[in-house]
Amino acid sequence: MDQTDGKEFPKRVRIDITATLAELFVDPNLPGQPPLLVKDLQEHQQICPTCKGLWLVRRDTPYGLEGQSGFPYFNEYIGPCTDCYFGVQTLCAHCGKLKHPSHWQCPCPAACAERREIDFNTEQERRAKCRRIALKDYTGTMVFEPGREQYIDATDYLDPELTYFACTEAESYLSPDPESIIDRMNDQAWEAFGEEGYEPTVTQEGRGVLEDFLTDWTTRFVDAPVCYYPNPDLIVVVPASIPVVESASAP
Ligand SMILES: [Zn+2]
Ligand SMILES: [Zn+2]
Repeated sequence: MDQTDGKEFPKRVRIDITATLAELFVDPNLPGQPPLLVKDLQEHQQICPTCKGLWLVRRDTPYGLEGQSGFPYFNEYIGPCTDCYFGVQTLCAHCGKLKHPSHWQCPCPAACAERREIDFNTEQERRAKCRRIALKDYTGTMVFEPGREQYIDATDYLDPELTYFACTEAESYLSPDPESIIDRMNDQAWEAFGEEGYEPTVTQEGRGVLEDFLTDWTTRFVDAPVCYYPNPDLIVVVPASIPVVESASAP
């Protein structure tokens, strides 16, 4: 310990990193021996050259005091290394370049192709377990083609080789909510009178009547387009070929 500029504080303290680490991490079963970390590296992994596998690097958050310029005082510490994952770096199996520890995915063409293949196979396995409905039994008006991300009319030509998901239909509006109308009335009372005690009271029966009215009004007067949502768990199966209808007048 020593002092800075003859003043009592800040009091500069120096910590012996090596001795402290040795004290903290010595193996009680191996007293007197230097502490060791054990790492079992997988293929394409290496010890991080920045932190030498400790996952620790020296950092500082310097600080200043009021009335002084700059940040002349230290608060050094040992924090996690950002060049590795727990002291280990992983290299791309294809190009050998370092995979960044925060996103793991190498952008090289071979690694991208491998990921696409894995994603494709995963999706194929998922689709193999999906529920299925024959096109002739499907009552929806649209199907979704995931390959081209397109909605297609279910009565249009559909390619038996392609996958189509069933679509859920919903009207593109939210029915008016009676509570939001009552809330608006309360807000208006506050805006106009600005004091408690002026909020109108709406009875439970009144709320029910308003709800019935809004439902009836929406049904009679609102004409909104229908929205479609793909259901990725239900596949519409297109027959391989259209059966030939035999002519009644065939000989
Ligand atoms: Zn590191
Ligand atoms: Zn790569």
